[in-house]
Amino acid sequence: MGAAEVVELPSWVTLLRAPNAGPMTLDGTNTWVLRAPGAEHAVVIDPGPLDEDHLARIAGHGPFLFILITHGHHDHVEGAARLSELLGGTHVLAADPRHGVPADPLGRGEHLGADGLEIQVLDTPGHTADSVCFLVECAGERVVFTGDTVLGRGTTVVAWPDGDLGAYLPSLALLTAYERVPMLPGHGPARADCAALAREYLTHRDQRLTQVRAAVAAGADSPEAIVAAVYPEIAPDVRFAALWSARAQLDYLRRESQQAPEQLDPL
Ligand SMILES: [Zn+2]
Repeated sequence: MGAAEVVELPSWVTLLRAPNAGPMTLDGTNTWVLRAPGAEHAVVIDPGPLDEDHLARIAGHGPFLFILITHGHHDHVEGAARLSELLGGTHVLAADPRHGVPADPLGRGEHLGADGLEIQVLDTPGHTADSVCFLVECAGERVVFTGDTVLGRGTTVVAWPDGDLGAYLPSLALLTAYERVPMLPGHGPARADCAALAREYLTHRDQRLTQVRAAVAAGADSPEAIVAAVYPEIAPDVRFAALWSARAQLDYLRRESQQAPEQLDPL
């Protein structure tokens, strides 16, 4: 049960959970503060919603070298510009320049040194086009911050059309490289083994695609029909997310079937 294990946080990581619990945010957005032992400056990942009390609590953990963003969903980024302002202009680094302060895009694969923290930006699109993960090494320990690419509980959604299942599956495969490296997600608890959890997600996606293929073969020809066939027990308040996933799955299968003749006919 390695993948199911909830893990204790390293001493240099603090979790500040935002007060925005809900069907899509689980217990609320996880805002992570990272400070190497003895370091003056910290780094914050995902300030979360525009909630003044939450942002003031984050600011109390400063000074910060910069603010990192895993992806542009509002429950992660909405408070970023305000936090930057509260801190006197601390830079916000995001893959999507619309969320950066100033608006320089964070390079995928980029390495950032930060007062005792070594941070690598992992290119993991799929949940959204701009999703990245952060591999952070400090004091001989490595952890991966996954945003919404992999969650601490349940599964995540491919937020079609911005999200893309064809991009998401290789991103999960990339995360299977981090054997027994703790995974600190955007929602839910930290988990002991990033690779094991990414493999579980890949298996889950594979099973869903098998179900969707069967539903299509049986005549399901719309996202609504896919949801009815594959997610029959879906709660009304997250049905929109199931429709996103169904559209992402249909889009993926359509492209897969378009590619098939080329695979059969190598020139
Ligand atoms: Zn998200």
